[in-house]
Amino acid sequence: MAKIQMTTPLVEMDGDEMTRVLWQVIKDELLLPFVDLKTEYYDLGLEKREETKDQITVDSAKAALKYGVAVKCATITPNAARVKEYNLSEMWKSPNGTIRSIMDGTVFRAPILVKGIEPYVKNWTKPITIARHAYGDVYKGVEIKCFSKGTAKLVFTAEDGTVSEETIMEFTEPEGGVIQGMHNRCNSIRSFARSCMNYALDTKQDLWFATKDTISKKYDHTFKDIFAEVYETEYKERFEAAGITYFYTLIDDIVARVIRSEGGYIWACKNYDGDVMSDMLATAFGSLAMMTSVLVNPDGKYEYEAAHGTVQRHYYQHLEGKETSTNSVATIFAWTGALNKRGELDNLPELQKFAKALEKATIDTIEDGYMTKDLALITTMPKEQVHKVNSVEFIKQIRSRLEKLL
Ligand code: NAP
Ligand code: MG
Repeated sequence: MAKIQMTTPLVEMDGDEMTRVLWQVIKDELLLPFVDLKTEYYDLGLEKREETKDQITVDSAKAALKYGVAVKCATITPNAARVKEYNLSEMWKSPNGTIRSIMDGTVFRAPILVKGIEPYVKNWTKPITIARHAYGDVYKGVEIKCFSKGTAKLVFTAEDGTVSEETIMEFTEPEGGVIQGMHNRCNSIRSFARSCMNYALDTKQDLWFATKDTISKKYDHTFKDIFAEVYETEYKERFEAAGITYFYTLIDDIVARVIRSEGGYIWACKNYDGDVMSDMLATAFGSLAMMTSVLVNPDGKYEYEAAHGTVQRHYYQHLEGKETSTNSVATIFAWTGALNKRGELDNLPELQKFAKALEKATIDTIEDGYMTKDLALITTMPKEQVHKVNSVEFIKQIRSRLEKLL
């Protein structure tokens, strides 16, 4: 069989630990035999980030903006332990954070539903897509440890010299406390609103959004106001024509509504809410390894990734020569998402068909009872039908189904 051709390279961002191991197996078993894979390769593994003083991360994000579609492997975000482990000269920032702030996008995460893996919330019969604003707030925050008596102030000097000033806290105890300053940009919030509303129209789903505007009367309220303005002036008519709605409420109210709902909508979240709620949702739908994740920027540039981390514990077992049973579904879907988008943009129906076939082969494998340990533990499938397989065997099972589908 002739390999499927590509015209524009995908930006390939390699990563760390167990996901880096799986990345190669996925390419060898599921991609290279079938597709004449064109990629521009960036190694975001921690060693390379150290060697390039993290320039490689910046370069990869710029390449994503240039070519329009990237696929990313999970990467280590260094902490003190990693600085020691990898002998780092600096505690490099989260690559995801760096890429998100360069692309200024919104992250959409949706569960991959398969028969036999039932959501913990039994009324969730449709997927819930989380749209996480991927810019600013606490992720671009600055902080000071104020461990003495003293005064903390918030000061803004406008271009024309006007000064606005608020006292944050008069610390009167000798131990003092901590303070934090964070920001968002009206432009970024507006892009976030537009990305969510476009995605709602694309997928014909309602859009829900919530903040804590009753407490945060300026910061959160600005999010509420910009969303309302964008909706009223740009989207209302199209939403009504498509038969979908935009709904705003408070963050605590929405959490209660989400639990009671049947799913089937997009839940727009501020950056931190999205970080926390997407892990909650992924787990409640079954597993973090059964979640797609894509960063979409307002100019229509895409970065596909897995929602989980580098699965460090499994990697150390792998290094000891022990067998692992690591779920590669989210990483496979990062590739299929990227290949499908490349196919759509370059008008390559064969490439899109391949991506859909690979997704089907993956879902069929699990529904046939071949699954990794994380799924074998939670499946409702009768025990005698479940084959718990190792990391490589799982991918080989997908390959044999893919070959039949093609
Ligand atoms: P993790 O890699 O998501 O793994 C946490 C645990 O969740 C694993 O030990 C495993 O549980 C389970 N798990 C996650 N993904 C799995 C998969 N694909 N298959 C089977 N089980 C899976 O999180 P972490 O251990 O807290 O973080 C490791 C590194 O990843 C950190 O350095 C962190 O900075 C990085 N990270 C990267 C990203 C990203 O690049 N997108 C996101 C989050 C974290 P069991 O051990 O019980 O089997
Ligand atoms: Mg998170």
